[in-house]
Amino acid sequence: MDQQWGDGTRLQHVGEEVKHCGAVNPPIFQNSLFVFDDLDVFLSRDRKPDGPGFSYSRLGNPSLTIVEKKIAALERTDKAKVFGSGMAAISAALLACVEQGSHVLAVDMCYGPTQGFLNEYLNRFGVTVSYVSGVDTDELLAAIRPETTVLYLESPSSLIFRMQDFRTITAECRRRGITTITDNSYSGGIHQKPATMGVDVVVHSATKYLAGHSDLVAGVVAGSEQFIDRLTEREINWLGGLIMPMGAWLLMRGMRTLKLRMRHAEEQGNALAQFLTAQSWVERVHHVGLDDFPQRDLRDSQMSGCSSLLSFEPKDQDADKLRRFIEALQIFQLGVSWGGFESLAVPLEISPMGWDGPRRLVRLYAGLEEMEDLTADLTQAAAQAW
Ligand SMILES: *Cc1c(COP(=O)(O)O)cnc(C)c1O
Repeated sequence: MDQQWGDGTRLQHVGEEVKHCGAVNPPIFQNSLFVFDDLDVFLSRDRKPDGPGFSYSRLGNPSLTIVEKKIAALERTDKAKVFGSGMAAISAALLACVEQGSHVLAVDMCYGPTQGFLNEYLNRFGVTVSYVSGVDTDELLAAIRPETTVLYLESPSSLIFRMQDFRTITAECRRRGITTITDNSYSGGIHQKPATMGVDVVVHSATKYLAGHSDLVAGVVAGSEQFIDRLTEREINWLGGLIMPMGAWLLMRGMRTLKLRMRHAEEQGNALAQFLTAQSWVERVHHVGLDDFPQRDLRDSQMSGCSSLLSFEPKDQDADKLRRFIEALQIFQLGVSWGGFESLAVPLEISPMGWDGPRRLVRLYAGLEEMEDLTADLTQAAAQAW
């Protein structure tokens, strides 16, 4: 790969240097097993799972290697591994960083099942966890304990889009030997490169923007050669949370258009946020791309763009009216995920650290439908509710 290549070029060509029968798309290596015709090669085979000697698909498969090389190239890391889901990736990355007695510091708005894994699973093995909002860097650094081994970030988070100051935080964590992990799903890996700002390990729910078509569940861990090799030898080998070759191929196919889709997502997100800001029934819009985004300086220093995931707080917090609004939507479908072709809405009641109390909000994801149709849908639903 040419280091000068931009993301669009990397996504098309990295990992596909070898053409099979001249096929412009690589075949799907639908294999559990790779056999050897030479005993000496078998005995001496490179045990590195993603090395040239593929032996067994739990440890490495060419369909996975292709997409892993693209993800590492996208995230500016040495290596990456692809998993059967975002949670398989996140749990493996966290397990790689803790032992009995370890403390994990995490941001309170990180993905719910990630918190579940930290609170209700790792605690069974003597790992403690505590949370900070992540907005105040001094407060975050002050919450680090002598036994902290990993700092788990999600910037921006996916409900109210809080960011953390990667450069300051990771410099301090490096000094103290603490591994930093961030969930980078929001940015699709296009608009933010955490590894270039010192983050050790980048995870994604590839189900979202990376795959991009609501037809696949997948996850990603990207990091240094040392971290990924160790992860492959241990968590991948022993826990086996990998993706099937067909899934890896679909992820590769989805990622061909990632750059284009993220550029469009930014346009959609900004247009939708501007529309919402002007509506009488909206109290507050949470969107990374807004001019008055509370952390705009940090955003401008860490991100090159935003996406089409946002949320708003309705002025009228009445639960029944909110229900009427959600039920009246015709194009926006009721669903929790995002990053695919279809627009989605989900009502939430949350109480993040630093808020006075719980607030109801609606998270919206703008898909690939026409923006005029989406805003018309919101207008007619709001007229029925408020
Ligand atoms: C969906 C999601 C995950 C989990 O990913 P799965 O692929 O569903 O396992 C993790 N983090 C964020 C921010 C997500 O939105």
